[in-house]
Amino acid sequence: KAAKSMRKEDAAMSNCKVIALTNQKGGVGKTTTAVNLGVSLAQQGKKVLLVDADAQANLTMALGYTKTDNLPITLSDLMQNVIDGKSVDVPNGILRTDEGVDLLPSCVELAGIETTLIDAKNRDSVLKTCISEVKKNYDYVLIDCMPALGMLTINALAAADSVVIPNQPHYFSIKGLEQLIRSVSRVKRQINPNLRIDGILMTMVMPRTRITQTVISTVKNAYGRNIRIFDTQIPFSIRAVEATAEGKSIFSYDKSGKVAAAYEQFGKEVADIGEKQRNKNRADRLR
Ligand code: ATP
Ligand code: MG
Repeated sequence: KAAKSMRKEDAAMSNCKVIALTNQKGGVGKTTTAVNLGVSLAQQGKKVLLVDADAQANLTMALGYTKTDNLPITLSDLMQNVIDGKSVDVPNGILRTDEGVDLLPSCVELAGIETTLIDAKNRDSVLKTCISEVKKNYDYVLIDCMPALGMLTINALAAADSVVIPNQPHYFSIKGLEQLIRSVSRVKRQINPNLRIDGILMTMVMPRTRITQTVISTVKNAYGRNIRIFDTQIPFSIRAVEATAEGKSIFSYDKSGKVAAAYEQFGKEVADIGEKQRNKNRADRLR
């Protein structure tokens, strides 16, 4: 019994925060944000694991692992083992990168897991089980989600403490946000009561265009009272596209550019929120 309450204590004391980068809309900067938020947090001395939960494996490739078919272990192997009730050696699947963050890679096989999950008995918690094996080694785990609200994204939301929503300020983005926020609420109600939305991050912002400013103020009016719109906006820059193509973070590719400066600032905003929540959790425990 003592051991059990000890374990409970350990879990409560876990200083790791798991953040899912989610938006069912494609190409809004989820993967770019995963890489550069991860590196920004690492540059502040945090230990960071990036989890590629997308069969497109863009995150894996963005960190320089371009031949994803040759990777010995990927997230789909680990998730399959959990589904089959086998033991999983998650640390063995983790890759180191030159950017100072660790990576749980993906490959095209992950697409098959999506359907396998539907009939699995622990279908919502498979990713959570994988991540909890290694949580103690990290300050932040960032999950890069695929552009859909399927089983893999539900798994990411079930495993997460919070959600960051990258959003490109386009005219049609507002309907999509509505649907996404409803899905997050459903997961919170049914699976993961502690889930919260940390905020909406405006990406690929072209500040001088009128439509951008109109959409940003529409989003603020619609959600700003309940959901944080991060102070940081990520500017549009072709350097970001080039960095992706080179398999580098913006910090390695163009460290004195405006996108690097923005992601550095965003990393500080996220770390600040993380720190405040940790202090609050600590205070709640002492009460
Ligand atoms: P998917 O939904 O397919 O997973 P995503 O939401 O992960 O896409 P990214 O892959 O991060 O989006 O970005 C889409 C494209 O936009 C990429 O080519 C990327 O290089 C580019 N991009 C990301 N951020 C910026 C930026 N700040 N300025 C210009 N281009 C950017
Ligand atoms: Mg992506």
